[in-house]
Amino acid sequence: MGRYTGPRCRLCRREQTKLFLKGERCYTEKCAVSRREGVPGASAGGRRRGKNSDYGIMLREKQKVKRTYGLYEKQFLNYFKQAAASKGVTGESLLQLLETRIDNVVYKLGFANSISMARQLVRHNHFLLNGKKANIPSIILNEGDRLEVKAKSREKGCFKRGEEDTGPTTLHALPEWLTLEWANFSGTVSRLPIRADIDPEINEQLIVEYYSK
Ligand code: SF4
Repeated sequence: MGRYTGPRCRLCRREQTKLFLKGERCYTEKCAVSRREGVPGASAGGRRRGKNSDYGIMLREKQKVKRTYGLYEKQFLNYFKQAAASKGVTGESLLQLLETRIDNVVYKLGFANSISMARQLVRHNHFLLNGKKANIPSIILNEGDRLEVKAKSREKGCFKRGEEDTGPTTLHALPEWLTLEWANFSGTVSRLPIRADIDPEINEQLIVEYYSK
């Protein structure tokens, strides 16, 4: 199945949680989840149809995380296989891989206000990774990697800054594993993310069980 191209808020409503897919709107009262709009396709009153089975619960957790990072099913499965083959705890390794994708790092550094915008900026060749071209959103960053906005791009569109600009306008906090040098349009992976750095609401064990079925 391909990447979902319909309304993004619908995905959050389906998962009944904020996936933060639309930038600033996600932090306002306009957010469909904040307004408590029900599950798409559910009967009036927004109730979910039927009871969730164990399988359904695992499936929803997998879908939620896959949608948060904006991935195809096949890509997500490949990350799972990579995580399962690693020496670490599978669920944690999976989350670490997802977090260290270049598009997610661009988003978390505050150079984009959503992961889809970050992906587009990477594809449009606005970044250098350790001084080299990096326009593939699935690149995985390692400890010590340095990302910077290309000099040519700094005066363009969303990178352009006013004189008073002292930091990103994104509303999420900078993760502890990243160092941001806003004035230099750059950021560094100061260490790899550990489980405690990643959304505590995610239950990665359910994803492991889903793929182990
Ligand atoms: Fe999800 Fe953001 Fe839409 Fe809210 S505004 S439903 S968090 S995409």
